[in-house]
Formats: sequence, C-alpha cells, structure tokens
Amino acid sequence: MIIHPIIKKLIQLYNKGVDLDQQINERNLQLFDIKNSFDLEQLKYYYTYFKFLKENGYFEKSKFTPLEKMKKYNVEEIKYHLINTDQISFEVTDACNLRCEYCGYGEFYSGYDKREGKEIDFDNAKALLDYIVDLKKSVMNVKTYRNIGFSFYGGEPLLNFPFIEKMVNYANTIKLPYNKFLFQMTTNGLFLDKYMDFIINHDFALAISLDGNKEHNAYRVLANGKPSFDKLTKNIELLKNKSPEYFEKNVEFISVLHDKNEPYEVRDFFMEKYNKIPRLLPLANYGVREEKKEEFERMKNGNNTKQKISNKKDFGDLNSDRFIKTYCGYTYSKTSTLTAGGKNHRFVSTGTCHPFEKSVFLTVNGKILPCERIPQKYGLGWVKEKKVELDYQKVAEFYNGLYSKLKDKCNVCERSDECLKCIFHLDLSSTKPECSDFINREQFKRRTTGILSSLELDPKIYQNVVGD
Ligand code: SF4
Ligand code: SF4
Repeated sequence: MIIHPIIKKLIQLYNKGVDLDQQINERNLQLFDIKNSFDLEQLKYYYTYFKFLKENGYFEKSKFTPLEKMKKYNVEEIKYHLINTDQISFEVTDACNLRCEYCGYGEFYSGYDKREGKEIDFDNAKALLDYIVDLKKSVMNVKTYRNIGFSFYGGEPLLNFPFIEKMVNYANTIKLPYNKFLFQMTTNGLFLDKYMDFIINHDFALAISLDGNKEHNAYRVLANGKPSFDKLTKNIELLKNKSPEYFEKNVEFISVLHDKNEPYEVRDFFMEKYNKIPRLLPLANYGVREEKKEEFERMKNGNNTKQKISNKKDFGDLNSDRFIKTYCGYTYSKTSTLTAGGKNHRFVSTGTCHPFEKSVFLTVNGKILPCERIPQKYGLGWVKEKKVELDYQKVAEFYNGLYSKLKDKCNVCERSDECLKCIFHLDLSSTKPECSDFINREQFKRRTTGILSSLELDPKIYQNVVGD
C-alpha cells in the first residue's frame, strides 16, 4: 500500500525535529514541497492523518509499557472482580440429545471433562449462588446499575429442567440490595414445547442454536443421526405463536459457520422466517485434537468463512471493524485496557477478561471456571459438599504465571491494543505458547496503511462501525 507523498514528507520533517504545528500555522508550504496550487486544507487533512499515526505509536519503536513492568494480580483484585461479576452460570447437565458433529464436547476437541450424563448438584449450585450473593452485598460492588446474568448451559440444559425450575424459584426468593437477576439459557430448542410456559413466565433471554435452513443445519443431528431441523422449527413456531412479544424481545439465534452454510444465506433465512439477524460464530479453533486437525480445518475453512463474512457489508468488515473500534477514540476495545489507566499502558496482555469479571461458571463436576467458553481443565476452584473452595491467592498466582509465559510474545506484538485472544484458547502446555494472531511491526504498518487507505476511499465503513 502506498503512503501519500505528503505523509512521507511529514514523516521526514518530523524525524528532523521540525515543529510541524508551527510550520503549518505559518502556512510555510514550501517546506512541505507543495506547489502553490496545493490546497492548504489538503495539507491539514494529511497532517491530521499523520498525527493519528503518531499518537498511536506508528513511529515509535515500542508503543507499550513492557509487560514485566506491569502490575500483577493480587488477592484484592481477584475479590473485586468476583464481587462485580456480570454473570453466574451453571452447567446444568453434561448430557445432550443431539450429536452435533462440531460439538465443543465432541470428537474434535480435548480439554473438557468426560461427558458421563451427569447432572449438577442443586445444593452445590445453591452454595455458590449464596457465596456470590453475599459478596455482592459488599461496598466493593460498583456495578450496582446492572442486572446479573443467571445462565443455564449444557449439554442441553432442558434435559435437567427440575434443576432450572428449582434454581429459578430459589433465586427469586433472594433480595439483592442493588442488582436483579436476568435469567438466560442457551438451548438446542428440541424440548421447548414442554417448557415454554415456564421460560416465558420467567422472562428468560433465550439463545436457540440453529445453523440456518435444513441443509445448513445438517451437522446438528439427533443421537440416531437423524436431522433435528423439522422438530426444532416446529417448536420455534409454537413459541412464536404462543407469545409473539416474548419471541420478538427475548429470543435470539446462534448459528455456527462451517462448510455447509454461508453467512449471507443464513442471514436471509433468519430474516425471512423470523425477522431476526442471527449471531454468527466460527467453529472454536482451540483444543482441537492433533489427529483431527485436517478434518477440522476442512469443516472450518471449506467455505473460507472469514473471507465470506468480511466480503459481506451487512456483517461488517472483520479487519477494519476491530481496528476502527480500537483507534477511533470513542470506545475501549477491552476492559483490561480501560482499567490499565492511560494510553498505551497495559494491565495484562492478550484479550482475556480479568478473572471472574465476566462470569463465574460451575460445572456438573463442581469445578469453578471463569466462563463456559474455555477448556474445563482450567478449573480455578471447587464447590464440594456445599462448600465453596476458592483460594484468591492461588487464582492470582495462576493468572500471573500464565501471563508471564506470554509476555515475550505480547511485548513485541503490534496487535496488543486490539487483541481479543483469550489466553485459555492458546496451547498453554508449552513454556512459550504460540499465538496465531501475533503481528510484528512491519505487518502492523502494512495493515494500518491498508485499512486507512480503504477508509479514505470509502468513509462509510467508518460510519457503519462507529455511527454518525
Ligand atoms: S473466553 Fe476468555 S476472555 Fe472470554 S469470557 Fe471466557 S475467560 Fe474471559
Ligand atoms: S495477538 Fe497474541 S501475541 Fe499478540 S497480544 Fe494478543 S495474545 Fe499476545
């Protein structure tokens, strides 16, 4: 990508120590090799462009504070994030009535606890809830303005409906001083016909997994290998007819992208049938078994999913979207940047959330994790015989240890500002884990120049991401 000659000139002058502000204010156009006919406004435009690059470390050797100088987690911080957690979630059962071929607990993946058809223990779940509720009463609870997600996952959560019913009834007896619970469930929807009254009456935010039309949904099969599409869509119709308002307000769809569907067609299917845009997810690419990698890649990239999404305007450009959000100055791309205090300062590397900041997740085996989207081998504590065992010091040390493995890589990674990589999605068995998202200085410069050039050509891209 070519850098505009005016920018090149500005860089040269800047490197020579010229006071660019002063020269431009004094309209010293000769200095910039600009012919008389050149518009001063254009020079100012490129100067703004130049300043943007400068402020974002484009000309510096390293724009970040090295990670070894950064603060480390301590007991107080772990406690603080736990008190302010956004969500309490439960793995209601590890059983499922489907056998989706790409399932995160299926043959492609490792790192999760063995699926044995277990159900979560109500008393242990209640003990964890009581523990968090107690913490929430603390003066350290600063998120007094928001609801707390109260979420049910599986397996298929509706296979253990008695637990959900009991837990919801119990949660409704709890009086929190500030926050309210917001019930949520992610389901394959095949038992909705049995339980929809309860779900509607308790105002659940419902996420239904469906990959698009019958052909798109071909990987989501029943235990006997038969398709699940007809039964699910029948249930969705029932729900929609039963309470159109609930359906409109509370129901969303999650579609996994793979080689049997296509983002645009999936979007059209949901728009036509339900007037909704689904949440599109790529296949999780962490924890894939070595011997399954080839097959997995075929399923994941058979249709070049990422490329397809980035080519579709309605889904946004994946490359520039993240870049714009990070550098536009109106948003913080991740909370750990916000809490680091100060530009180009990092509290931790990677895009990982603070421990328990987003969620506290209890598995059927009584393990406490920071969320349901990471391999279950990373348990941070336990609930055993109605007792919560969570050692904040150990949690802090565990996280600090993980970050120290990554620091050499992240210290020199130019994606650090934008990074969304969760540390638990890397191969942490190695002392120096590799990261597929790493970019060096040259790659960063090429990418930045490329994205800025396309924004110049089509400013609407910026508008689509940031708004007017
Ligand atoms: S996937 Fe990683 S970053 Fe995301 S909520 Fe879970 S622990 Fe946090
Ligand atoms: S992309 Fe990878 S190497 Fe770069 S900051 Fe994120 S986790 Fe570190």
